[in-house]
Amino acid sequence: LSQLFRPLDLLGMVYRTVRQGVIDMGAMFDLIDTPADVTDVPDAKPLTIAKGHVRLEDVRFAYDEREILKGITLDVAPGSTVAVVGPSGAGKSTLARLLFRFYDVTGGRITMDGQDIAQVTQQSLRSAIGIVPQDTVLFNDTIGYNIAYGKAGATKEDIHAAARGAAIADFIERLPDGYDTRVGERGLKLSGGEKQRVAIARTLLKDPPILILDEATSALDSRTEAEIQATLERIERGRTTIVIAHRLSTIVHADQIVVLDSGRIAERGTHAELLRRRGLYAEMWTRQQAEREEKMAAQ
Ligand code: ADP
Ligand code: MG
Repeated sequence: LSQLFRPLDLLGMVYRTVRQGVIDMGAMFDLIDTPADVTDVPDAKPLTIAKGHVRLEDVRFAYDEREILKGITLDVAPGSTVAVVGPSGAGKSTLARLLFRFYDVTGGRITMDGQDIAQVTQQSLRSAIGIVPQDTVLFNDTIGYNIAYGKAGATKEDIHAAARGAAIADFIERLPDGYDTRVGERGLKLSGGEKQRVAIARTLLKDPPILILDEATSALDSRTEAEIQATLERIERGRTTIVIAHRLSTIVHADQIVVLDSGRIAERGTHAELLRRRGLYAEMWTRQQAEREEKMAAQ
């Protein structure tokens, strides 16, 4: 039961602290991001990333009683792209949250360049990882601030370049106050797609060695998606990337594709290998191709 109440407690706490006005947005971000039970170990050292080798060793995880991830073993070679696909509810977003150490694993371990992520400082882990989540929460601040949050000391030029890369610069420049336009709950409400592009801009600016994309383009129309896809593929190059994708056409190029089903890896291989297998992936691929053709015929 205490599990159930924790998010509410946290929200209440955030609300109270914001009302008291004693907290800056950065600290609030940490508060929302970090469940109370994730803490630095006493002698935590900073994570040092040289190559960006990510490994999951028999990773298990349960939010409460029910086990969501049931022994995931995965080797993400430095600089490579691994795509995680599978039905909704399979545990894909949970996997992304564990990599960012939103939660601690309940079994097994995750290492980055040989260091267990539960043993390093959270601050160093989070500065090494760029994450574009499924749902982006913006700060009640300017849109420029929301992009700049990716990098301390970012210049205007850096921010504008990142916005261009995320295909949101034109939109921002048309706003009455441009980059100074306030967004979030108390400002201009952005659409899901616009928020996703802000998160992508923030990640471009951060330029992290490890990248996690959780259905990063799912809220975009297909034209904007195609536009951003090229940018994402460019930033994936040379950095370790874990990309969770709904539309399989966006991950055909991945070095390794992992099919997650009910918390287990059901299949793994390249796109061509998985098609030859005629399993779950091939089935998903055929279904999506058929849907695409139907859509095109309807136009
Ligand atoms: P996917 O991203 O593959 O759709 P998720 O990782 O979001 O799947 O969810 C996997 C399972 O974990 C689902 O059954 C979901 O209901 C459950 N779940 C997700 N988040 C939470 C949470 N915060 N608390 C409890 N259960 C959760
Ligand atoms: Mg998900």
